Amino acid sequence: MSITSINPATNEELKAFTPLSKDATLEAVARSDEAYQSWRKTSFAERKKVILTFVEKLRERTDEFARLITLDMGKRISESRREIEFCAEIAEFYANGAETFLADQPMENVDADAYIHYEPIGVLMGVMPWNFPFYQVTRFAMPNIMAGNAVMVKHASNVPQCADAISRLFTECGLPDDVYTNLFIPSEFVESIIADSRVQGVSLTGSEKAGAAVAAAAGENLKRSVLELGGNDPFIVLEDADLKETVELAVKGRMVNAGQSCVAAKRFIVVEPVANEFLDGFKEAMSALQIGDPMDEDTTLSPLSTEDAAVKLQEQVQSSVDAGATVLLGGDRPDREGAYFNATILTGVTPDMPTFDQELFGPVATVYVVKDEAAAIELANRSSYGLGGSVYTKDTERGQRVAEQIETGMVFVNQPTNSQAELPFGGIKNSGYGRELSHLGILEFVNKKLIHLG
Ligand code: NAP
Repeated sequence: MSITSINPATNEELKAFTPLSKDATLEAVARSDEAYQSWRKTSFAERKKVILTFVEKLRERTDEFARLITLDMGKRISESRREIEFCAEIAEFYANGAETFLADQPMENVDADAYIHYEPIGVLMGVMPWNFPFYQVTRFAMPNIMAGNAVMVKHASNVPQCADAISRLFTECGLPDDVYTNLFIPSEFVESIIADSRVQGVSLTGSEKAGAAVAAAAGENLKRSVLELGGNDPFIVLEDADLKETVELAVKGRMVNAGQSCVAAKRFIVVEPVANEFLDGFKEAMSALQIGDPMDEDTTLSPLSTEDAAVKLQEQVQSSVDAGATVLLGGDRPDREGAYFNATILTGVTPDMPTFDQELFGPVATVYVVKDEAAAIELANRSSYGLGGSVYTKDTERGQRVAEQIETGMVFVNQPTNSQAELPFGGIKNSGYGRELSHLGILEFVNKKLIHLG
């Protein structure tokens, strides 16, 4: 079966790609290992030159790449352009910083002359999702290529035009063949790649189900793994928040990428004294979003990534409503072609409802009203996920105190969780383990070798 790009704004098939056979996939692993044996010996300066060329080309051709993102998975074109610029920033960060991040590190407070020496470990497998098709790959590939590893990527099957473009770009910027490999393969092949002795680690960004399958294969084969999985991030509004600004940030935090972000704000937990005012403002701002063609600059709410995603979201919303939740806004799909879903606000979702602990991957916000700060923290932590979160208050010390009590990998005060090249990104609990971005991201797949000189 081919791997096909379908425009979710129209459900029209755009382009089909032929997948690799199992044998061809394992031959690609062999070539990747061969490429690694040379690439690991290159200097940081040589690697930096290649990656900075990548950055230059990304920026020169922003519109072309942004268009592919929007065609493959429906993101608003302005967000697609921003994604490309963000990839350039990440690539630049590692191109310029890798040598420092991986410099020998003398051991302090030991009674010997000893240091940590960082070395690449080999071929790495990346399994990536569709929601930020350029960013997810960049986040995985850049630190690892700069560290001297070779990477293979199995991208999500609904973004093949992006997968193909990224791979070509690596070639065009002078990266030696097979240091980066795009694999058009079904997910069933991933396990045998992980099992291959030439592959040293795997990084997956995606759902818990896929994460568990990949982690099991990694465990069985004693391979290192990083998992970046789903989230159900709390957005806590305290009574001393600047409500006007908080409402704007609530819409921004929920509606990034039409709500399809792992770190989108998903559970809005508001204390009683400001609940009505917050809900009024939030409803008004969410109702103002304009559904439309994601290529149109005036559109503020784009389609979901696929028709299936819209159908699944409708089922999740309906199951909450059937169980007694209230639809304050939306709750259904507009009458038009494409994978669209109306901006939706649900209230009255209770822990006994199936969606309480599920990730709603689309433009659906659930709002919870709680008595006070302590109740907000308790509800925020009542989740099997632990990715990001945010808290809104004019009192920074209070924000910090609350942030320290939230059980997630990242908490922001007075801004929705977001991702920046220099900040570590990752979660706890069912949101996965390991960190990407920042100096920590480049340390996941290197040998931290002790050299002891006596
Ligand atoms: P998904 O279905 O898990 O797919 C992610 C990737 O895993 C795809 O390439 C998919 O391939 C592959 N895959 C699926 N099952 C697999 C298996 N059993 N073995 C090996 N590979 C497998 O997730 P998605 O729907 O694309 O992405 C949305 C999810 O990703 C959400 O839960 C979101 O929160 C999470 N996410 C997390 C982060 C983060 O940084 N924490 C960032 C973005 C997204 P196919 O496409 O061929 O099925």
